[in-house]
Amino acid sequence: MRVAGNVVAAVLVFSFCMFFSARYIQSEQQGDAELQRFFALQDLATIRARIEGHLNANLVAIRTLRAELALNPVVEPERFQRLAEEVLTDELHTRHVAVAPDLVIEYIYPLIGNEAALGLDYRESPAQIRSIEAALEAGDILISGPVDLVQGGRALIARVPVYLHRSDELWGIISQVIDHESLFADAGLFDAEMWSVGLRGADGEGMGGDVFAGSELLWQLDPVMVPVELPVGQWWLAAMPASLAWERPLASYSGYWFLGIALSLATSILIYGLLTSHMRLRRAFSTISHQARFDGLSGLPNRQFFTQQLEAQIRRCRRREQRFALMFLDLDHFKEINDSLGHEAGDDLLQGCSQRIVAAMRADDMVARFGGDEFVILVRELSDPVDAELAAEKVLAALRPPLEVAGHEVSIGGSIGIAVYPDDGVSTTDLLKHADLAMYAAKSAGRDTSYFYNESLRHQSDTHLKLHREIQLGLADGQFEVHYQPIIDAVSGEIRAVEALIRWQHPERGLLSPADFIPVAERTGVIRELGLQVLRQGCADCRRMLSAGLDVTLSINRSPREFNDNRTVQRWLEVLAEEGLEPERLTVELTESLLMPDRERQHQLLRDLHDGGVRLAIDDFGTGYSSVTYLRKFPVSQIKIDGVFVSEMLDDNAQYALVEALVRMAQALGLAVVAEGVETAEQARMLTAMGCQLLQGYYFGRPMSASDLIARYGPTPATG
Ligand code: C2E
Ligand code: CA
Ligand code: CA
Repeated sequence: MRVAGNVVAAVLVFSFCMFFSARYIQSEQQGDAELQRFFALQDLATIRARIEGHLNANLVAIRTLRAELALNPVVEPERFQRLAEEVLTDELHTRHVAVAPDLVIEYIYPLIGNEAALGLDYRESPAQIRSIEAALEAGDILISGPVDLVQGGRALIARVPVYLHRSDELWGIISQVIDHESLFADAGLFDAEMWSVGLRGADGEGMGGDVFAGSELLWQLDPVMVPVELPVGQWWLAAMPASLAWERPLASYSGYWFLGIALSLATSILIYGLLTSHMRLRRAFSTISHQARFDGLSGLPNRQFFTQQLEAQIRRCRRREQRFALMFLDLDHFKEINDSLGHEAGDDLLQGCSQRIVAAMRADDMVARFGGDEFVILVRELSDPVDAELAAEKVLAALRPPLEVAGHEVSIGGSIGIAVYPDDGVSTTDLLKHADLAMYAAKSAGRDTSYFYNESLRHQSDTHLKLHREIQLGLADGQFEVHYQPIIDAVSGEIRAVEALIRWQHPERGLLSPADFIPVAERTGVIRELGLQVLRQGCADCRRMLSAGLDVTLSINRSPREFNDNRTVQRWLEVLAEEGLEPERLTVELTESLLMPDRERQHQLLRDLHDGGVRLAIDDFGTGYSSVTYLRKFPVSQIKIDGVFVSEMLDDNAQYALVEALVRMAQALGLAVVAEGVETAEQARMLTAMGCQLLQGYYFGRPMSASDLIARYGPTPATG
């Protein structure tokens, strides 16, 4: 992705550079065109000078003749011959001159070939009279044409009227026929190879006269022009490049293009290079910072990074008043293996071990390598020290199976020391030191084991762990039983429901009540298996009661810890289906703490349960964070008033008022109320009077086996 980005950037830079190259070449082209115009003007100026020069040289003849004839208008053939010979030299472009006294041609020089013109009366030649009149009007030499000549061919004709000296009387007209083709050729009009040159006459204001030379097209384009000054009026000379365009085609600037492309390419390559090297640099930086935080061999966080994380964890737990554990793990006999199999095998072994350790821990715990064969593990959430010990056991169990290293099966164990925050220290140094010391204690205790730094925690954890194992064993062994306590209709006295209460038939300690093992089961998580067993048994027994004719619902107790797993509720509903009990027959008793805010995940599970058809009851209502607000947010259908209030309500007015208030509130919310711990008839009477519909307690019946309950409440077998 990044590389593609760099390529795009480079292409953009290239296009940008090419755009500017093109603009530059265009401006070069403009500059060149200007230069061309300048050169063209220069050349035109030369041509103009030559045309003017040649014309003037030719017109010397007509001027001289005019002067002579004005002074002496008597023309004899010899005189004319002599005068004409004098002024008409060979290098001129004049074909002939004709003198027409009184506007009738009388003399022509040279005469040969021009005889036809003799005796021509201009007044009778419509073709010529207009230019004669124009010449008379101009009063000076007027060049007209090129015109078709009487004697054939085309030529320019210069005419001038002759007035007698010291009088305004018109004597006649002198005409000089000039061969414009040769004149223009001598002026170099057709020599300019680079240019297309044109010449045209002027018609009074503009240059709209006849085109004498060059292409007509030239004048419709954009030529440079200079005027050719005549004795009267002017001509216009124009030029354009032979290609008829001032600008050279862009393609002809190949050198510039080459340079432009080369520069653009170079720039874009440079940019691309800069970007990629910047990327590499960034990558290198992130590698370096990764290397600074992680161990190269195992990929685990290193000591420095771990210590930072540990500090953050201390800050967090100080704020929240939570516990966490720090475990120091040292592989047993690693040094011997490393020495005998070589360092490479040692590295492989360490990598294998790190993977196993990480896999054994929870995702939000943190495993770091402190160097050598030392690992440190942060167990972030700790509700009981036994959690740390269980985690340590998991790690040790994961390490135990033999590893294949360099063709050898290697068995490796570890020793783990555990320090708990805040019991064993509140600083990183203290916690690490104490975990390390505990690790040595574990080593001397015989390796492949874990050890708490703190003696009382060690003791507590040991008892909890022992109990945890016994529960697991007991579950497998079927030592747990479920007893049922009847819940009675206050008015009719009939049994309405039964509450399932777990009992443990301990092999050594006899029958244990939930208080002896539920707290530990909750902490170690084995409560989930216990709960499932109670539910399964409860469903089966409830069906037996139903078959025995008892119309009861089943209430079971659930701990908050049992609501941690998304799958749990689904599992319970499955059990109901498997055991064939309708969900409506089941009431799940929860503690109020579950309804407290910021337990969104657990709230969702409650809703899922309700959606599955199961009813919800709040157990021990009034002892915890009783809040009507919480209560109304959930689809709860029953509350259970704790036995403590019931037992004290007869002696204590305040407790009496409290129970009464709870009953009222439940009624107001449309909830059913169960009063627990009803031990006397008096209590039962009072509660019934208050409007409490359901009663539960020793007065009605202690928790008993399903068979006992059926025997007691089932339809009395017919006697006799
Ligand atoms: P709980 O849900 O409040 O259950 C009622 C407790 O009060 C039961 O104690 C019951 O034997 C006792 N009891 C009932 N009537 C009277 C009476 O008239 N007087 C007196 N003094 N006590 C009475 P138990 O069976 O020892 O259960 C203790 C607690 O253990 C239960 O309190 C419940 O929170 C928990 N528990 C029981 N079974 C389970 C279970 O399967 N799962 C879970 N998570 N917790 C359970
Ligand atoms: Ca209960
Ligand atoms: Ca209770």
